[in-house]
Amino acid sequence: MINVTKTFLPPQEEYQAILQRAWDTGWMTNRGVLVQELEAKLKDYLEVGNIIAMTNGTLPLQIAIKALGLTGEIITTPFSYVATTSSIIWEGCTPIFVDIHPEYLTIDETQIEAAITPKTTAILATHVFGNPCDVEAIQVIADKYGLKVIYDAAHCFGVKYKGQPIFNYGDVSTCSFHATKLFHTGEGGALFCKPEYYDVMFSHHNFGHEGQEAFKGLGINAKMSEPQAAMGLAVLPYMETILEQRKQVVASYNEALASLPLKPLKLREGTQWNYSYYPVIFENETQLLKAKIKLNENNIFPRRYFYPSLNTLPYLKTDAMPIAEAISKRVMCLPLYLGLSKNQIKGIVSKFI
Ligand SMILES: *Cc1c(COP(=O)(O)O)cnc(C)c1O
Repeated sequence: MINVTKTFLPPQEEYQAILQRAWDTGWMTNRGVLVQELEAKLKDYLEVGNIIAMTNGTLPLQIAIKALGLTGEIITTPFSYVATTSSIIWEGCTPIFVDIHPEYLTIDETQIEAAITPKTTAILATHVFGNPCDVEAIQVIADKYGLKVIYDAAHCFGVKYKGQPIFNYGDVSTCSFHATKLFHTGEGGALFCKPEYYDVMFSHHNFGHEGQEAFKGLGINAKMSEPQAAMGLAVLPYMETILEQRKQVVASYNEALASLPLKPLKLREGTQWNYSYYPVIFENETQLLKAKIKLNENNIFPRRYFYPSLNTLPYLKTDAMPIAEAISKRVMCLPLYLGLSKNQIKGIVSKFI
């Protein structure tokens, strides 16, 4: 079976040797040595100013919205994973969708201003498949209207834009370390923010504690545990290998698909990408479904991602988003993981013809 992704697992003895340190201290969570070491190593690896490791990639979004004190309307993208929209609603705010760019697949920054009302407090956009939003244009709009900017950067481990780590843009960026993501801790995630927000974000992820016996404000529990951090510490040394092999898989797909009427992802200029996904856009949904059935018959399981367009969620009533809805129906992510051979890729692509 070939799935859309396959979790990279480090040699088990390496994971266990790291986990042994948690056994030695008898300390399983509450920011033990492993979480602190992982944060330090990631800060270095990613070249970011700060990081808070968390237990998944959704809580950082909710914490960002809560800790920035956002209310009212948040401008967002319909082309993302459901967590982007559901976090806005979960925090009592209203998502206001702005359609996407048909090739970059990120929020169409030229349509943002028209969606701003006196109730707008922030922009929450997704760097889709590791492809950055137009972060500069978005910042100009945010500054003009006094809005906060949060990026759902769940797909962006290791991505740089114009030489800068993508996590450094905006007021807050979040990442997911879920087992299906490029770098993982089983379940896990992280929040990156401007230095002035670090204390409030940190406090919110740990019940609002200020020391053991005092509280500085409202909080929730989003702490990463030691076994999660151990997985991260075991995976991190393999990042160069993971990226190098994924780069080769992407190159093989590019070559094999070149003659087919499928559109690959268009990366924004200035992007140092991480080969996180291989989406292809079909000419129409019928062709996508035909290819999907044929692939499934051969035990190959690509994924319709992102589908459906988030403005059509059953708990929402919003305007139509013509581009996001059309793309959602026509986009599929092909299997992409370390170890996928050139022959397997040829086999996958042959099912399209
Ligand atoms: C995976 C993902 C999330 C959620 O991350 P979890 O770690 O699964 O909670 C949020 N947004 C996007 C775009 C994602 O792909």
